[in-house]
Amino acid sequence: AKGAAMVTAVAYRLTEQARQIQQTMAEFRLSKTQLLEVKKRMRVEIERGLKKDTHKEATVKMLPTFVRSTPDGTENGDFLALDLGGTNFRVLLVKIRSGKRRSVEMHNKIYAIPIEVMQGTGEELFDHIVHCISDFLDYMGMKSARLPLGFTFSFPCLQTSLDAGILVTWTKGFKATDCEGEDVVELLREAIKRKEEFELDVVAIVNDTVGTMMTCAYEEPTCEVGLIAGTGSNACYMEEMKNIEIVEGNEGRMCVNMEWGAFGDNGCLDDIRTKYDQAVDENSLNEGKQRYEKMCSGMYLGEIVRQILIDLTKRGFLFRGQISETLKTRGIFETKFLSQIESDRLALLQVRSILQQLGLDSTCDDSIIVKEVCGTVSRRAAQICGAGMAAVVDKIRENRGLDHLDITVGVDGTLYKLHPHFSRIFLQTVKELAPKCDVNFLLSEDGSGKGAALITAVGCRQRELGAQ
Ligand code: BGC
Ligand code: MG
Repeated sequence: AKGAAMVTAVAYRLTEQARQIQQTMAEFRLSKTQLLEVKKRMRVEIERGLKKDTHKEATVKMLPTFVRSTPDGTENGDFLALDLGGTNFRVLLVKIRSGKRRSVEMHNKIYAIPIEVMQGTGEELFDHIVHCISDFLDYMGMKSARLPLGFTFSFPCLQTSLDAGILVTWTKGFKATDCEGEDVVELLREAIKRKEEFELDVVAIVNDTVGTMMTCAYEEPTCEVGLIAGTGSNACYMEEMKNIEIVEGNEGRMCVNMEWGAFGDNGCLDDIRTKYDQAVDENSLNEGKQRYEKMCSGMYLGEIVRQILIDLTKRGFLFRGQISETLKTRGIFETKFLSQIESDRLALLQVRSILQQLGLDSTCDDSIIVKEVCGTVSRRAAQICGAGMAAVVDKIRENRGLDHLDITVGVDGTLYKLHPHFSRIFLQTVKELAPKCDVNFLLSEDGSGKGAALITAVGCRQRELGAQ
């Protein structure tokens, strides 16, 4: 009888443990009503960003980009492009040829940006960038060419023209001093001057979302939206000039860089944010900022997972109750590990071996729980990101007074491209939440490089026209 009582006690403890774990995960499982609410709130913030009276305090900034049209195939020339703010820093040479046999040829080189440089002084950061450009030009044998350059700078910038952008705030892992509030194009030009080795003509500053949209639009003219689901999260789309109140003029359209990562910074998502989201925010370089991004982008999903695992371990449900040094380490769960853990083809034994590689000693039960935690966190990410996109496409549909909209979205980002489930859940959510839109998603091939070059080409042409 004593044995039976013990078995019952163990079984009870196990079911009670399972119940508590499920209770923890339940907070991450959003209903359709909740997702519709996210969509609705995004729409409210979009309007606040666009209106002159509310723009200043708006969290979703809806920044004008001075890109007035998508490419038309007449773009031509050789361009240099920089890509800063994604997973890798790159310098590229992009050769665009117009005419019957249009083509784009690219050469690029990836450079590391050491963390001391990302978080040092602005001067050091820009000197480093110019050092990399110099190396690239040597490598290509093009130091004397004075090429036009497009700068893909994937951070919020307040633009007053195609070639001027004041950094509103750093996001993701960057924190270099003396850059916020400055025109980053000027910072780049000054660094080029300091180096005294070569000349360049900085023609355009480009957000990665805009580069992605333009790249896809080059192949597919119905592409009027860009999405990045990668290290960070953001979208852009072609908005009616008359709705962009902070830019003069009512004719035609302009691409707006939404900066939707900041959605929720006024507290409007607090009811769905969990204590784990708050912990991630408190541990970040930019507390209180980019709250939506911190729930749905690659840089933070692993951090949310880590916070949950720490909590479950503290409560004795995981890793035999032992919090290892590894588990205390920020950033251990990169997108690629989450993607591996969630891969359907992996047996649990392999999940354990991934955890082992990360320095986490797990039992079979542990690995089941870790996999479920990862799945729940990435599902919520895909869903709220989808809710945001549903708001955007419905807004475009209404702009055009249509009952039904067919549109293409250009997409890039490691989370979207590498994760085994994110894109599927994201697409499903957009479909469900914006039933009046048929949205076609197109993966962009190297949007940041090609797109920046296309925008630079248009910028050069506009300048020539202006000079006549
Ligand atoms: C930045 C955006 C960028 C996005 C994706 C965000 O952190 O604020 O400008 O588009 O990341 O890279
Ligand atoms: Mg990128």
